[in-house]
Amino acid sequence: MSLKPLLPGALSDRGQQMTLGVMGGGQLGRMFVQAAQAMGYFTAVLDPDPASPAGLVAHWHIDTAYDDEQGLAQLMQRCDAITTEFENVPAPALITLGAHRPVAPSAACVAVAQDRIQEKAHFVKTASEGGPLSVFPAPYAAIETPELLAAVPADLLPGILKTARLGYDGKGQVRVKDRAELAAAWDQLGKVPCVLEKLMPLQSECSVIVARGADGNVVAFPVQKNTHHDGILAITEVYEGAVPADLAARAQASTVAIANHLNYVGVLCVEYFVVDNGQGGSDLIVNEMAPRPHNSGHYTQNACDMSQFEAQVRALAGLPLPTPRQHSPAIMVNLLGDLWFNANGVRAQATEQPVSPPWAQVLALPGTHLHLYGKLSARKGRKMGHLNITGDSVAQVRETATRVLALLGLPALD
Ligand code: ATP
Ligand code: MG
Repeated sequence: MSLKPLLPGALSDRGQQMTLGVMGGGQLGRMFVQAAQAMGYFTAVLDPDPASPAGLVAHWHIDTAYDDEQGLAQLMQRCDAITTEFENVPAPALITLGAHRPVAPSAACVAVAQDRIQEKAHFVKTASEGGPLSVFPAPYAAIETPELLAAVPADLLPGILKTARLGYDGKGQVRVKDRAELAAAWDQLGKVPCVLEKLMPLQSECSVIVARGADGNVVAFPVQKNTHHDGILAITEVYEGAVPADLAARAQASTVAIANHLNYVGVLCVEYFVVDNGQGGSDLIVNEMAPRPHNSGHYTQNACDMSQFEAQVRALAGLPLPTPRQHSPAIMVNLLGDLWFNANGVRAQATEQPVSPPWAQVLALPGTHLHLYGKLSARKGRKMGHLNITGDSVAQVRETATRVLALLGLPALD
């Protein structure tokens, strides 16, 4: 990465408007494009879907496959720097792009995040080189051969078998109680490389977003408390007390160390588990990382003085990254396609045809900020948008969230 900033609104070395590109056209790419445009950049998206959420709002949409040589050549011709919005971008495509343009995060960093075996090894190495407060992953074993399967230590059971690659939203995971179930699960997953993780006694889950520049400057956002329903993020809460302060500080320090050890450039999210330490207290376990902005960081759009997407733009363009400040307590509610099938937010009156949720009633509540991704059809389980709720106190933001959840027919806050 060059350290010369790509200044917004300027003419680039190519003699064209300064343009930032993104591999992937989902909602994360869309919000990156919107943040880049707000700062005066031109934007380009590569995504095969002609109606991709980011492609619909970018200046240029190249709708080829991610590994299409001509598509990649067009993206390089259009762009002064390129980022990615999902971790399963083919590594060779990022290598091709990186040979000609600044690419952040790098192909090497994305490759680590694409593979749970490499990812966990990186976590262990980072924690081993840190102090007594560093954060380790749950005990695990890589399973790539029948011999490794047979050699799994008994104390990893009960556990969760996860495919090393291509898992998301809890897909590619099987919970197993004993060796027989483990063998059956590995069979079921097609005997692809996997990791078996010990099942941990979770008290809660949290995550941390950091942004790191090519100059090595790294800043952390506040720690997010996450609640999942059916393996999909449902709610993120960010305010004082949502995560115990000592654990939050450790999680932030651990995330900064993980980014530094990778020489990472861009926005990185690391997920953590808060677990019972067996002595009446809590401990922290590192779960996984995403080499991009993350669903749990969407609250930053309305509750911080810099969003995670603006941080992604700044890191990519080589602009300064001041420490972000949260100005309001925040709760983010994910809006899945299921909501379009709850008549007036009442689950009991499920409809066959999609119906828009009661946005006017929701938006009448103070501090509600609606973000929809422009997806043309609602499907159950599909991430359609999110709602950020801000308030001037924790009590107020929780009260508004309680009313929103009731209007939408969603489960109440814990
Ligand atoms: P996503 O990409 O949506 O974050 P994923 O499919 O990559 O999810 P993980 O984050 O590894 O999967 O796991 C999904 C969820 O399963 C976690 O958020 C947690 O609730 C639970 N889980 C995963 N690993 C463990 C574990 N070792 N012990 C207990 N619960 C776990
Ligand atoms: Mg996860």
